[in-house]
Amino acid sequence: MRQFLSYTAIVAAMLCGAALAADTPPAVARAQVDAIYPDIEKLYMDLHRNPELAFHEQRTAAELARRVKALGFEVTSGVGGTGVVAILKNGPGPVVMLRTELDALPMQEKTGLPFASTATTRNDAGEQVPVAHMCGHDLHMSAWVGTAELMAQDKARWHGTLMLVGQPAEEIVSGATAMLKDGLFTRFPKPDYALGMHDEPSLAAGVIGFHTGAFRAAANSVEVTVFGKGGHGAYPQTTVDPVVLAARIVLGLQTIVSRENNPADPVVVTVGSIHGGTVSNIIPDQVTLQLTVRSFDAAVQKRLLEAIAREARGEAIAANAPKEPSVEVKNGTDPVINDPQLTQRMVAAARAELGDANVVEMPAQMGSEDFSQFGLNGVRAVLLHIGAVDAAKLEAARTSGQPLPGVHSPLWAPEREPTLKAAISAETAILLDLMKA
Ligand SMILES: [Zn+2]
Ligand SMILES: [Zn+2]
Repeated sequence: MRQFLSYTAIVAAMLCGAALAADTPPAVARAQVDAIYPDIEKLYMDLHRNPELAFHEQRTAAELARRVKALGFEVTSGVGGTGVVAILKNGPGPVVMLRTELDALPMQEKTGLPFASTATTRNDAGEQVPVAHMCGHDLHMSAWVGTAELMAQDKARWHGTLMLVGQPAEEIVSGATAMLKDGLFTRFPKPDYALGMHDEPSLAAGVIGFHTGAFRAAANSVEVTVFGKGGHGAYPQTTVDPVVLAARIVLGLQTIVSRENNPADPVVVTVGSIHGGTVSNIIPDQVTLQLTVRSFDAAVQKRLLEAIAREARGEAIAANAPKEPSVEVKNGTDPVINDPQLTQRMVAAARAELGDANVVEMPAQMGSEDFSQFGLNGVRAVLLHIGAVDAAKLEAARTSGQPLPGVHSPLWAPEREPTLKAAISAETAILLDLMKA
């Protein structure tokens, strides 16, 4: 279902953008972006070389804080752990929030880039793990600083309050909630509008992807432990085998998706982990399953979670289990719902800046994002994506059917210059439009 732009469409888009630029000058001049780019690229490489895990983004947060403080923003650090809030007041007008994530992933980078991460760190479990920015949050942060710089330079063209938010721990979908609990919308002005921008592997570098309404899925982890009665593998009649019970549950769960759910509502129930037993001839007394459960609607998500618990209980009864399974719904996040009117307004501003064909509609994604929390807390919010892949490589991938690396791949390497420049241009143009002087 992923849409790929053809190379010719991209060339046409560039020409169209150029033609459009001749009629209406873009809000952000290319020269303004070009002037700050070398410094922004340096920041990008520095952040890329020095990644930090969720809620441990001390160096990252300090660097962002230092940079926006120098631009005249009023900076508060340590919001919701390592979060940064930077406010630039410029007379009466709307409060507009731009959010970036701060965290990297516990994985090894294999891009071979000269500035590739070789960092390792201790995770919260005390294990030594590699750490790398394989989701592009370093790109988002660099664009965020670039946009801050252009907005600070151009204060005559806008009014209101610009609120830059550096959010920790997106990868564990906890940082947005942590910041909100720490008073993001009470200690600081509550935004009228919020914008987030994420890099995107299915679009050409610099092309903005938008999706109105439900864009990113709600997700929950669920841990199910089923209990049996252990014993010798040769005498199953003396046991209640939790391995067989767990296997029935794995298959039963699939019918929640195929038979109970409305096929028009996209959902996923994946059992990603199943653990029980030690050796071949001992029947264990319990087995633990770990699931991820996703959908685009809070009511659908609730129904899925209830059905999982019911399925587990029902199979346990059928197996004559000595006690009810434990079903624990763990950390999760809600669907990202892009405000329809605000999406249209941002799309118009981005199109005026980048050209119509460089701002395209894209499908919703099952990956989740805790950007959802800002919208749920009463702010009109939109998450946009920005293409980050060389157009010719995308076209070659489409023709060959060989998928390219995406985010969370050890090979994910955004086309940094066109992506960063377009992200800065689009963010600034959108902010200027929302805060028109
Ligand atoms: Zn990610
Ligand atoms: Zn991400």
